[in-house]
Amino acid sequence: MRRIFGILLLGLTFHGPAWADDGQYRWNLADLYSSPSAWDADAKELSDEIGSLQACQGQLGDSATRLKACLDLNFEATKRFYRLFAFALLRRDQDTSDTGGNELLQRAGVLRSRLNQGTAFLQPELLALGPKQVQTLLSEEPALAIYGHYLDNVERASSHTLTKEGEGVIAAFGLIDNTADSVYTIFTNAEMPRAMIKLPDGTEARLDDSGYEQYRQVESRDVRKLVFDEFWGAQKKFEETLGTTLYKAMQRDWVNASVRHYPDSLSAKLDDDKVPVAVYQTLIEQVNSGLPTLHRYLRLRARLLGIPDLHYYDLYSPLVHSDRKYSPEVAEALTLKAVEPLGEVYVHEMREAFGHRWVDFYPRPHKTSGGYMMGAAYNVHPYLLLNHDDSYESVSTFAHEFGHAMHTRLADEAQPFVNSKYSIFVAEIASTCNEELLLEHMLKVSKSDDERIFYLGSALENLRGTFFRQAMFAEFERDTHQIVDRGEPLSGAALTRLYGDLLKRYYGDPEGVVKIDDLYAVEWSFIPHFYNAFYVYQYATSVAASSLFADAIVQRKSGARERYLELLRAGNSDYPYELVKKAGVDLATPAPYQSLLARMNRIMDQIEALTAKRGH
Ligand SMILES: [Zn+2]
Repeated sequence: MRRIFGILLLGLTFHGPAWADDGQYRWNLADLYSSPSAWDADAKELSDEIGSLQACQGQLGDSATRLKACLDLNFEATKRFYRLFAFALLRRDQDTSDTGGNELLQRAGVLRSRLNQGTAFLQPELLALGPKQVQTLLSEEPALAIYGHYLDNVERASSHTLTKEGEGVIAAFGLIDNTADSVYTIFTNAEMPRAMIKLPDGTEARLDDSGYEQYRQVESRDVRKLVFDEFWGAQKKFEETLGTTLYKAMQRDWVNASVRHYPDSLSAKLDDDKVPVAVYQTLIEQVNSGLPTLHRYLRLRARLLGIPDLHYYDLYSPLVHSDRKYSPEVAEALTLKAVEPLGEVYVHEMREAFGHRWVDFYPRPHKTSGGYMMGAAYNVHPYLLLNHDDSYESVSTFAHEFGHAMHTRLADEAQPFVNSKYSIFVAEIASTCNEELLLEHMLKVSKSDDERIFYLGSALENLRGTFFRQAMFAEFERDTHQIVDRGEPLSGAALTRLYGDLLKRYYGDPEGVVKIDDLYAVEWSFIPHFYNAFYVYQYATSVAASSLFADAIVQRKSGARERYLELLRAGNSDYPYELVKKAGVDLATPAPYQSLLARMNRIMDQIEALTAKRGH
């Protein structure tokens, strides 16, 4: 069955050193449940609701009133589960060594599977009613209107749904559906041998994923090269093992697509959200014609770093160093000023949130790393897990995650629960738009050219990472899945060859922009997102859309702000591509991508003007 309801954790990953323990920098979980017994009581309530729901079996078509009562009960139970789950996850993540939190999360897992089992009859029974009868029922009971989109989404699955027996077989094989992903995760997270390197100060460093991410940024070029050579050298030893897990995951995608009568893996996956394949193709076409902009950035980077022959291992060291510290209070104040162009209501809601302990700010031992916004608990408020390290990066992450939080807030206020949980296709628009507004604000308040170059450089690097890199991943996924869909083999070495060709084209290796060493083309084996096919393209489409939105909002174009806020409030009341289009951005056309490229060129014009002034 189509996965209609999901819980999104919208996050970035970074690592912070310091930690502090202070109530005002911790979230208040009592807003969800005031005591363990309150969670227990709600869990009991959920079990009762699942029990009552069983009486709906075979009755959905009885009358419009009965249908409404059953759908109400289903979504009431789902809403309750989300709140129970939110509390369990947040409690676990604030201290992963707390057995209470882990136990609660396991109990939430059991509740989830009971809810899934208890509601499994709904979609097949709704499908069996057929579109005609569903329409009749809808017209008989106006209060059913809030379920219109949900019912349409269920109905869409009809041509991709098999007989009861067929669905049973698919469900049975579901048990082994994620074998390749599981092997990949356990191997790369726990058992894969990692390289050790000796740093110039004599200390030894282990190059696991976080070690790699940390040491590839260092100032010494020799160390950066050593980090790349050793990290990718270690990865390369498992090229065929990791190639096999990825190949098997792609074959799984193809099997799932073909048994459900889709022509290929890509259209099957995009159909989950009814996103037109033209969006995906337009993104790839546009990013390819925009490569000269990426090359301009890379040449600028080479010049600012003073490196005549830029290599792939030179991409992560910061363009300009800054020691400025940004406390959580400063992050709040800057973000609040930055979002002023979004209008009073948005600013007011955000200010309110700041006083109410939605956020767990600082790193602590046993706290989950990275950062995310958890917006599952409808009618309560979003929660944000951060690992604030007082860097500008932390401020940008704060603005980003608060973009998700405000999106959740506005959608929850405007929509009934069933239509509130927006899709990932829209989600990253709300967060990256705030990042862009933050940059505009920082440029306004910067006191020196160095500071300005620092913010502009950080924005450029961000665009490389969220637009060009993700679009390149998207192209890699498209091309490799096409090979698998045709029934052809793909070895680890072949994946490296394909990835290397893309990498060289994107980074301008033949034009002498960035030299790509062949060893580094095994990078595909390091990207866990490839096990969740055709997902990352949404980062690239979102940042393109938000670029167009942010430009229009900052320039105070008539109606732009209202259309954007309307998009946030719309939640999941329609298909995401349609919602974004209604707000004025058609992601199947070149305009949003061209706006992003123009924006990137404007940023580079500014940097060049500033450096020319200094006689660089
Ligand atoms: Zn995000």
